[in-house]
Amino acid sequence: MDLDRQALAGAIAAGFAEQVTWLRRLVSFDSTRGREAACQDWLAGEFSARGWAVDKYAIDIDAIAHLPGFSPVVDADYAKAVQVVATHDVARPVGKSLILQGHIDVVPTGAPELWARNPFEAEEQDGWLYGRGAADMKGGVSAMVFALDALHRLGYVPGARVHVQTVSEEECTGNGALSTLARGYRADAAFIAEPMGHTIVRAELGSVWFRLRILGRPGHVLASVATGAHAILAAAEYINALKALTAEINAGAAQHPYFGAIKDPVKFNPGKIRGGDWLGSVPSWCELDCRISVLPGHSLEAMRARVTYAVRRCAERIEGDVPVLTWIGFQADGHVFAPGSAAEAVLAEIHQSVMGEALEPTSMTATSDTRFYDLYYGIPTLCYGARAVGMHSPGEAIELSSLQKTTEIIALFVSRWCGLIKI
Ligand code: ZN
Repeated sequence: MDLDRQALAGAIAAGFAEQVTWLRRLVSFDSTRGREAACQDWLAGEFSARGWAVDKYAIDIDAIAHLPGFSPVVDADYAKAVQVVATHDVARPVGKSLILQGHIDVVPTGAPELWARNPFEAEEQDGWLYGRGAADMKGGVSAMVFALDALHRLGYVPGARVHVQTVSEEECTGNGALSTLARGYRADAAFIAEPMGHTIVRAELGSVWFRLRILGRPGHVLASVATGAHAILAAAEYINALKALTAEINAGAAQHPYFGAIKDPVKFNPGKIRGGDWLGSVPSWCELDCRISVLPGHSLEAMRARVTYAVRRCAERIEGDVPVLTWIGFQADGHVFAPGSAAEAVLAEIHQSVMGEALEPTSMTATSDTRFYDLYYGIPTLCYGARAVGMHSPGEAIELSSLQKTTEIIALFVSRWCGLIKI
């Protein structure tokens, strides 16, 4: 089926104001962890209105806990972790099947006084749409939905099975993506429209999340104590020890085939801390939650062993009890997306014709859902999307002209990969 590309660009342009309105509505849901259900309910309604079969469910931990890529669940109630898979199917396929996936969980907004606007009221300014999740990655979700809408407006549906998946847990475990695979959803390729600035992810880092529960030896502040006896001062020492471990890993990363050209690709983030009870007492406890990245080729076991060793050595040095170490979220492998897949060749050709330049690969110093489909289930997976700034910050924004191009590129990808059937 030959698609008139001018007509497609026109259909996407004609629907773009509606797409931005739809995206603003999507951003208006505060879909931080544990609060995704209302957003998913709305999406399920949008998908069934389009005639797609909707499977809406909460993650069943027992169904995924034994699978590769599972991450432990702490501080979360999965009865509220709602996932949506919408399916368009055809009786006689004329092309290959496809998973279009986007995550709708967003990261917490942080200190309110740093926001010039309501994080969940998207605002357009100079061609960019600002708001929590506008870029990461509700914009990408709008692109995959409105790509299919534009094809529909021209009188076509995909010529093979397409699963449109909106998942949660991408920002902390990846268990949402894993649950779709545990439920049996498969395809000949997957496409995740993360805001990659029109590059394709060639390699990504994994990450490991952990918690140190540091116990001090409490008493009246009148007595002087060793650093190890002071749970909060000890926390600062553990942070320094883990920074030193990170520097050591980064020194070795200079030879890495995919991350060697990036300065200090491995990031250590002590992201959350709480502890102590009373200013007249030496603090008896402190909990420190941390994240460290994992290079492709490095095992999670080895990383956990290095963290454990660094913590133990530090405890000895500061004369403290060894903290209890818990693995509390992401246990995500780093991964390389092998070049040369048929799906990538199709995307590269479409990108070249729409953007007027060659498709460039990126080594991403973060973690995405992509590994589940590609690494654990052998589904060639493309991670590609629009230009964004300020992700995870109050300045988060997506460039609207780039989002429109991304929508066009996804529509062309669907038409080439799945084929088209005239309605
Ligand atoms: Zn994302």
